[in-house]
Amino acid sequence: MLNVGKSDKDVDDPEGGFRDAGGRERRKGNSASAIHRDWIVFVFESIVVLTPVLRNGLSGKNVRLEYGPMAKLTFLGAAGCVLVDCGIFQGSQELQDRNYKPLPVDPKTIDYLVLTHAHLDHTGWLPVLVKSGYRGPIFANPATIELTTILLKDSAHLQQEDTLHARIHKDSRHANPEPLYTAEDVDPTLKQIKSMPRGGSFDISSEFGVASYDAGHILGSSSLELTLTEGNRKTVTLFSGDIGRYNQPILKDPTTPPSKADVLVCESTYGNREHPDGDPAELLAQIVNRVAKRGGSIVIPSFAIGRTQTFMYYLRQLEDQQRIPRLPVYVDSPMALSATELYLKHKEDHDLEYAREEGSGGKGDPLNVHEFHLTRSVEESKAINNVKTPCIIISASGMVSGGRVLHHLVQRLPDARNAVILAGFQAEGTRGRALQEGAKSLSLYGQVVPVCAEIAEMGQFSAHAGKSELLRWLTALPAAPKQTYLTHGEPVAAQALQAAISEKFQWRAAVARHLDTVPVGE
Ligand SMILES: [Zn+2]
Repeated sequence: MLNVGKSDKDVDDPEGGFRDAGGRERRKGNSASAIHRDWIVFVFESIVVLTPVLRNGLSGKNVRLEYGPMAKLTFLGAAGCVLVDCGIFQGSQELQDRNYKPLPVDPKTIDYLVLTHAHLDHTGWLPVLVKSGYRGPIFANPATIELTTILLKDSAHLQQEDTLHARIHKDSRHANPEPLYTAEDVDPTLKQIKSMPRGGSFDISSEFGVASYDAGHILGSSSLELTLTEGNRKTVTLFSGDIGRYNQPILKDPTTPPSKADVLVCESTYGNREHPDGDPAELLAQIVNRVAKRGGSIVIPSFAIGRTQTFMYYLRQLEDQQRIPRLPVYVDSPMALSATELYLKHKEDHDLEYAREEGSGGKGDPLNVHEFHLTRSVEESKAINNVKTPCIIISASGMVSGGRVLHHLVQRLPDARNAVILAGFQAEGTRGRALQEGAKSLSLYGQVVPVCAEIAEMGQFSAHAGKSELLRWLTALPAAPKQTYLTHGEPVAAQALQAAISEKFQWRAAVARHLDTVPVGE
């Protein structure tokens, strides 16, 4: 296993340099440092592929550098630097603080950016990158572009709202809290987004090619195969992106790319656990019937994209099959409604079953429940508090870290007749995780709210592959990658997947750490 890794100290280096895995220093303005870029730098979700760039007046070809026993780099031309995804840190305060630190690479020196999918932990830092000087294209497929547009605008809006709230209530750790970016910062970012095909190969430059494969995680989600061609040498780096579930409604199953990868960067969110067994429709029916019978309501903290549509699909199906009563369903999230429109529009992502249901002979609108209430304004959202008869409220955010779901929980958590359905991953440090772990009270808007409602978990609704699904995806690769790096999981999950990969495939696999720097194609 490679001894990769370095610490946060790299970022704080006063001279702007940072060290690679072997402790070799790179300095700005040093001609050697300008060349030595055949690396991947992990910045949590954002993975920078640094490849040979001859800058700072160096125009020579066939430059060969050798560094110690591990790295042996041969550069044959000027290719560029690619960033794959550019996410915002979410979760604990420590993680969020990272959002305010600069990248270890000057954004002006990045040439291309490619997105695997629209989730904010893969796109939410784009406006900061652009503000910091990134001027290159941001490639994404059409569905991802539309979802990213919605998400970035919403993210800026929420940050501005949170900042305002923190200033008024003086509950920030910072004397003068500032949003990471505002709505005005989002527009220039969107202008840099360029369309690439949903599937197949696409050349982003004469040296870099990218091929996309369905990842089955959310609409537009992809695994990306990045090929760098330098003379006769090809280096293939495969990014799994977030891998979705097999046999889920609406979207196609994940497809493992037929890549003979030099380097595989694979997600490991559920590397240490399986999703619970059980038919999600049946479980949802049981909860809805149980809660309705005792006169309660259900709050579903839900990501606006993906999760909400899956719930709507199952609720509609259960209503049609008369397995649940037709309760009023409030989708209290303008973003979820916009996302649903995109789910309906981008048929290229639909699986066969969905296409059949939508088509002739089907019910026509599989994502629409019978008593659907749409709430756009804050007043409409607050009016749901007056609904005292059984209902279902689907509202963001999915991990209860913000958004309108907070005020629904203030209202509904203290009543034991009600239920909260937690569906999917709840990151460390979030209120969703606290509920999952049996918290007796929750701090919401500065008040302590007792948790009396039933907390139901439905892991079946996760959009991430479970451990055996990750291994299934990996098994379908045609050849062992020379090196595998695991990202996107909490350490315990990544380490468990690393162990499983070693045992099952005997591959060289390492857990990527924040700001690790590792060689490509060695
Ligand atoms: Zn994702």
